[in-house]
Amino acid sequence: MAEGSQSAPEAGNDMGNDDAIGGNVSKYIVLPTGYCGLPKKGHLIFDACFESGNLGRVDQVSEFEYDLFIRPDTCNPRFRVWFNFTVENVKESQRVIFNIVNFSKTKSLYRDGMAPMVKSTSRPKWQRLPPKNVYYYRCPDHRKNYVMSFAFCFDREEDIYQFAYCYPYTYTRFQHYLDSLQKRNMDYFFREQLGQSVQQRKLDLLTITSPENLREGAEQKVVFITGRVHPGETPSSFVCQGIIDFLVSQHPIARVLREYLVFKIAPMLNPDGVYLGNYRCSLMGFDLNRHWLDPSPWVHPTLHGVKQLIVQMYNDPKTSLEFYIDIHAHSTMMNGFMYGNIFEDEERFQRQAIFPKLLCQNAEDFSYSSTSFNRDAVKAGTGRRFLGGLLDHTSYCYTLEVSFYSYIISGTTAAVPYTEEAYMKLGRNVARTFLDYYRLNPMVEKVAIPMPRLRNKIEVQRRKEKSPPYKHPLLRGPAGNYPNGKGDKKSSVNHKDPSTPF
Ligand SMILES: [Zn+2]
Repeated sequence: MAEGSQSAPEAGNDMGNDDAIGGNVSKYIVLPTGYCGLPKKGHLIFDACFESGNLGRVDQVSEFEYDLFIRPDTCNPRFRVWFNFTVENVKESQRVIFNIVNFSKTKSLYRDGMAPMVKSTSRPKWQRLPPKNVYYYRCPDHRKNYVMSFAFCFDREEDIYQFAYCYPYTYTRFQHYLDSLQKRNMDYFFREQLGQSVQQRKLDLLTITSPENLREGAEQKVVFITGRVHPGETPSSFVCQGIIDFLVSQHPIARVLREYLVFKIAPMLNPDGVYLGNYRCSLMGFDLNRHWLDPSPWVHPTLHGVKQLIVQMYNDPKTSLEFYIDIHAHSTMMNGFMYGNIFEDEERFQRQAIFPKLLCQNAEDFSYSSTSFNRDAVKAGTGRRFLGGLLDHTSYCYTLEVSFYSYIISGTTAAVPYTEEAYMKLGRNVARTFLDYYRLNPMVEKVAIPMPRLRNKIEVQRRKEKSPPYKHPLLRGPAGNYPNGKGDKKSSVNHKDPSTPF
């Protein structure tokens, strides 16, 4: 979530001093009270000591029930949303209830049917749990905090199970992705290191354009895109990858866009936060999207590097910085949508609405009606607001938000949960919307070449990869009476999720 959301109703749940959590659990074995022997099958082992992992503490409530605590962002206890942990040493048909008890937010898409993600050793593709096994409610046992409980049945003893808030997208995955692009030796794709994070991770900058646009003295129309300033907002990376994949492809539209525009993309602005499994902050506990006004080269080095480059481009008479888009994910809204700025100049304001309107025509998951324009004081330090004030009337700055959960197609009530592929598709649609914006459609026919029919092959491959389902948790017996779902606000929308055949 880009922007704000720290207003009073969202400031949320107090954690209290007695809940202080230092780091992630590391192969933490939960033994029954009074048990002294070696761990047996069914004595669960929790672990979050891996990249982007997050689980701070486990309390066993009963044989079947566990309270789980999110580890707060490093150096900033206010933010507790992202979780990502493994469970192993399970017994076949072992049924459990996991309660995530210390979210820092009160509003959540869990109220609308969102469910945690799960995968396991033998089923490595992430699936969403069925919403009927997920409960979100105010819990008297936890200082009336909002608690998300989910029921699960372990079915394969040798499997390691992993649960996460949303599809993870790690720094290492991102580096491998960029490495694979580099190996393709495309003469219109350039990767450079713009800077380093506090923990010495790379701040990558990609340039995608025809080599002619990079000749000495060439005039450039630049689209600048950034992502993952908020590390827990993993959908940002999938959208960004969708944009990049499309722009480097041989699609006729991509070829025209490369001829006409220079795309500068910094897909991961907060690599330390991503690596550490933070939700919103950097290693040192800063929400980088509040520090655009005066980023420090020591404390906010990645932000400082990107801002310097943007200012330098702005001051270059040969460069026209036309768009700045910062990609985020939203924890309470459905669909994709944008935030833009408010300008005194009515014509500029109207022109700013054009890109989101065009995107709405290209992407069924993008909502123009959720798109809004504001100048709240609390958002003054965001990239969109700062650059909107710096750049002149020919530039447009947006925050692109996409739901952590689902989208509702206009004219229907069915909430379609996002998949990794659906996030990437939104990215492709963002990219192709520049063709409409610049009215470059006539140029596409000139460069069009017959494309191989890949679609069916991809479909066949996908069907082959489909994982077998997890067993239904069977909410009966000792675990069956809990939770009763009181206070749980169930969604009125239908759930259509082809990927959860439980
Ligand atoms: Zn955000």
